[in-house]
Amino acid sequence: MDEMQTGRQVHDAQQRRGVVVCGVVQGVGFRPFVYRLAMEEALAGFIGNDTDGVTIEVEGPKARVEAFVERLRAEAPPLARIDSIVVRELVVVGETGFRIVASEVLGRVSTGIPADAATCADCLRELADPADRRYRYPFLNCTNCGPRFTITRRIPYDRPQTSMARFKMCAQCQAEYDDPLNRRFHAQPNACWNCGPRVWLLSADGVGIEVADPVAECVDRLMAGDIMAIKGVGGFHLSVDATNEVAVMRLRARKHRYGKPLAVMVRDLEAARVVCALTAEEEALLLTSARPIVLARKIEGSGIAEGVAPGVPWLGLFLPYAPLQHLLFADARVMALVMTSANLSEEPIAIDNDEALTRLGGIADAFLMHDREILQRCDDSVAAVVDGAPQLIRRARGFVPLGVELPLDAAPLLAVGGHLKNAFALARGRFVYQSQHLGDLENLTGLEFFKESLAHLMHTFEIEPETVVHDLHPGYLSTTWAKEWARERGLTTIAVQHHHAHVAGCMAEHGLTDAAIGLALDGTGYGTDGRIWGGEVLIARLDGFERFAHLEYVPMPGGDAAVKEPWRMALGALHVAGFDVESEQVLRLLGAQAGEVRVLRRMVERGINSPLTSSLGRLFDAVAAVVLNRRVVDYEAQAAIELEGIAVDEPDRFEQGDYVPELHSGEEGSDGVAVIKTGKMWKAVLDDLWRGVPARRISARFHAGVAEGFINAAANARIETDINTVALSGGCMANRRLARLLRAGLEEEGFTVLQHRNVSPGDGGLSYGQAVVGAAMLAK
Ligand SMILES: [Zn+2]
Ligand SMILES: [Zn+2]
Repeated sequence: MDEMQTGRQVHDAQQRRGVVVCGVVQGVGFRPFVYRLAMEEALAGFIGNDTDGVTIEVEGPKARVEAFVERLRAEAPPLARIDSIVVRELVVVGETGFRIVASEVLGRVSTGIPADAATCADCLRELADPADRRYRYPFLNCTNCGPRFTITRRIPYDRPQTSMARFKMCAQCQAEYDDPLNRRFHAQPNACWNCGPRVWLLSADGVGIEVADPVAECVDRLMAGDIMAIKGVGGFHLSVDATNEVAVMRLRARKHRYGKPLAVMVRDLEAARVVCALTAEEEALLLTSARPIVLARKIEGSGIAEGVAPGVPWLGLFLPYAPLQHLLFADARVMALVMTSANLSEEPIAIDNDEALTRLGGIADAFLMHDREILQRCDDSVAAVVDGAPQLIRRARGFVPLGVELPLDAAPLLAVGGHLKNAFALARGRFVYQSQHLGDLENLTGLEFFKESLAHLMHTFEIEPETVVHDLHPGYLSTTWAKEWARERGLTTIAVQHHHAHVAGCMAEHGLTDAAIGLALDGTGYGTDGRIWGGEVLIARLDGFERFAHLEYVPMPGGDAAVKEPWRMALGALHVAGFDVESEQVLRLLGAQAGEVRVLRRMVERGINSPLTSSLGRLFDAVAAVVLNRRVVDYEAQAAIELEGIAVDEPDRFEQGDYVPELHSGEEGSDGVAVIKTGKMWKAVLDDLWRGVPARRISARFHAGVAEGFINAAANARIETDINTVALSGGCMANRRLARLLRAGLEEEGFTVLQHRNVSPGDGGLSYGQAVVGAAMLAK
């Protein structure tokens, strides 16, 4: 922008600029940063929060104003995320001094609440310094770290609107809070021993346990093998010493969680390297301020109890992110702690002290409580490095409520997500705001959490949806709720097919608005033909799709029972592949009695309670059932995860031969959709089993064969459509071997390959994809 006004020469070197910075710039120390910058450049003017971000006006010598704008971008505080900086020319007014103005001065308040952030290095130094006034204070924080989303009741993000409202700052804290040059300037949760929240211990039946140092006592009890319920940032954790096999098994028994791996927290990166073989990317992911649980290869014999993650070669590992957690690890005896969400199965995580006592009294031996109220439930996030880049699997604490960009403009809408691992999304303009992971929407507790969280985020972002997007499945609780909610408000609804949403989400994450070949490799999703899809090759645009090919349909004997008992899936698949499932050989493979097999075979033949599915997740279950002899699973996809796990040391590529499922065009039905048949593959699997080929080798061949089969299908789709981009999505993309094989193979074929990064490829990411499809359909 050149100088435009005449008469400006009078102030030759003087300039005034208005700067609007959008992004995550509130509650992250941005105003004190700008204040310091203005001081250093000796500029006059002001800064204030405003609807979309912060508004700044600066005035001074031209070179210094320019330096100021440069440095704004280059030196922004660690938790800030700058989406745009717009600079405009203003008339010089001869102002002196730089001010921070109150939010209200600039009109409507901002909508931003930052995500929760791990304790910063400065605060950690104070925590460990006996001379510091916050030595061992479990709630210290500053503008660069601490709780945000989880303690905020409503906007604007100011102390009275947070659960810190009831704690009146002492004179020292207030002075820090008021000083623009202090690290705690406007740090809303600022607190100390004299004025802030505190911790105490309660027995399992809620009786106070009087001790001088509750944290030290908590550590003693953990080391003695007790199960402790520890109140954290987004909810309670249940904790035991992760090296104590007996304690781990007691926790599993009381929580009724037998197979599913438990997350482990360790002191620091050095300790993490002792229990897991970490890549540089995994180390970086562990250290991000969101501190997600990172799935990493465990080192055998490191001392972590076998029962923490039985049957898989990985550990869900994370580092402390709250001062209270750092204090637990300050005791040299503590090497690793199980820190698992305090809930029963897929219920919402407990956050309220009384609620925790009621719900966890039968599980925990004692409680480490505190009085900083958690206002938003938020589980720990889960991530993994897939193909050298981080991929979120469960998006929650540390990420919510940050927006994910959309490649097109959205009118205000709500996308309600799916059934399992639900998270909803609100969209407006170029951003989608996904809720935290809410768990399964199977019951009213789940629905209450959904409604509670929706009300909060609608308020936070001031989004009044005009359209409600839901899954195509008529029976989902999310679908019936969405229709009812829309009807009450007179809003329009859009139904989106499950796998179209998955693929569109992946495309949109990469800014793709053209068509792509979508591989939706998934567990369960309702198809346009009323069947259960999940091994799909789609020709997808953001606003629609055609089904190009799918895995062969096989029956699920007993419906949902076949998800919990994978041997039923194997029976269904082997029946379709032409095996006599009542033969001695097959019975042995299934680990089943002749009687029960006969019953299921009849059900399948007569089509009774045996819905058809093209799901790849179910194919993995079925293969795992025979290869690993896993009849029943304790959690969804357990068999498939174990099948991936045993192959972890096998090479990626083989002569797959008959392991490659074959693409058959124009068969099965009249719709012209190609079918990927698995009969030959099953024969190859069983031949290898009977020849005594080790399970790990069969697993590796199976992974390679499946990848090859879908790559062939994508190549065929390219011949018909000339589309050269493949979007990979669906819950099976959490299988890292499969993801790696698909990407490598597709790239060898010359494809451009897109994978999810900031949105989960599984059902946790579904609402983002629904929002994308909804926005695209409305834009037509
Ligand atoms: Zn800090
Ligand atoms: Zn204080």
